[in-house]
This record gives sequence, C-alpha cells and structure tokens, in this order.
Amino acid sequence: MNEKGGSLLLAEFDAKFPYDYSAGRYASYFLKQLRDHKRIMGIRCPKCQKVFVPPRPACGYCFVKNGAWVDMGDEGTLWGYTVVQFPFLDPMTGVERPIPYGYGFIALKGAATRLQHFVTASDLNKLRIGMRMKAVFKEERAGNMLD
Ligand SMILES: [Zn+2]
Repeated sequence: MNEKGGSLLLAEFDAKFPYDYSAGRYASYFLKQLRDHKRIMGIRCPKCQKVFVPPRPACGYCFVKNGAWVDMGDEGTLWGYTVVQFPFLDPMTGVERPIPYGYGFIALKGAATRLQHFVTASDLNKLRIGMRMKAVFKEERAGNMLD
C-alpha cells in the first residue's frame, strides 16, 4: 500500500544485460583522467571560452568543436541539491543505495556547466546552496563517475 491507500505493482525478476558500450572520445578521456590522475577535466570552446564539465564535443552556444582541455581542480560551490529519502536502485551499481543521501549540482570554478554528483556534509542537514565543496576520490578507481 502506498500513502494514498493504493497498491504498488511489484514485479521481481532477474535481468542480465551483458554488454559494454563506449563512453566516446571525450567522456573516455574525462573518466581516464579521473581514474589515473584524480583530475576533473573540462573542455573549452575556442570561440566563447566557456568551459564544459563533463566535456562535450561541441559548444551548444556557438556550434563549434570544443578545443582545449582544462584541469578544473577539485573544488567547487554547491549550486543546488536534494536529500534523497526514497530508496531506489542505483543505476551505477544495480543495488539500492542507502538513504538518506545528498545529490547536487556543483559549480566548479570557471565552468559554464554544473557537475551532477552525490554530495555530503558532516550532517546532510548542513548542506546549503553556495557552500564550498571538495571532491573526494576513491583509493581504488575504476574509470567511472563514482571514482
Ligand atoms: Zn562557445
């Protein structure tokens, strides 16, 4: 029963999706830099100078191919966030993520875009828009956004 008195449909099954796919040239470079050097890389538009993180092949403002890679550092500002209270399967792991947890948009210094990621503080109730954030890298990195 849900909170409105209705029933939820529940279907249990095992599913296997045995495939790999390429992240593409730009995302692959981004993920390799995370994994191998703990670097968050953006890419700069040669025309308007906007920097995009995560990187994308072309500038959506100027419609030109992006050019130079930029090391964004590991600090930013919390631009928006939510504290997730409802359990659901984490698409990165296929298992339910323990709740509550924070998820936010981080503005890295110099970036024209916001990086979405899990966010935390000593207490989730202390998360505030505008607070300084620092990336925490795993010791054992696998080349994905959870690194
Ligand atoms: Zn541009």
